[in-house]
Amino acid sequence: QQDPRIPKISSAIRVIPNFPKPGIMFQDITTLLLDTKAFSDTIDLFVERYKGQNISVVAGIEARGFIIGPPIALAIGAKFVPMRKPNKLPGEVISEEYSLEYGKDKMEMHVGAVQAGERALIIDDLVATGGTLSAAIRLLERVGVHIVECACVIELSGLKGREWLGDTPLFVLVNSA
Ligand code: AMP
Repeated sequence: QQDPRIPKISSAIRVIPNFPKPGIMFQDITTLLLDTKAFSDTIDLFVERYKGQNISVVAGIEARGFIIGPPIALAIGAKFVPMRKPNKLPGEVISEEYSLEYGKDKMEMHVGAVQAGERALIIDDLVATGGTLSAAIRLLERVGVHIVECACVIELSGLKGREWLGDTPLFVLVNSA
């Protein structure tokens, strides 16, 4: 049974074909941010799911996880930890490499931002191949953090990204084949 708030969230997301390159259907959440009702419903759906779950860390993935993650973190009483592209964080970092369609990328987190034994939620706007989320899972698990769940607004389910997340559950609001 789908939550009645989800259809308006779904229709507030704009799809831009062939961005950033030919063949990609870019799911643009900036139009969701313009719709105050749909944006607050989005945050509420995550907060309702995660409050009272003893989550002390919301790890947001650059860049759009930095938009959705902080309001969720504040509402559930967790700290917000940015998971960034290489060479952006000023302090000492630990990093994790991952494969892209062409080549590799790296994700970094500040040393000392999280402690072993903490319970984390990982947030991004969208899961496609699952490579980004799985790098975030590895990075946090390396320092002894338990990942309660990964949460995204959109899943491109045809790419089967959730199959790369191992035992970590994935929760999404909108499915886009
Ligand atoms: P992946 O690692 O393949 O699961 O890709 C997920 C990351 O790439 C997320 O940070 C998304 O913001 C971004 N991304 C991948 N595909 C799309 C798409 N079609 N529309 C918008 N963002 C995308």
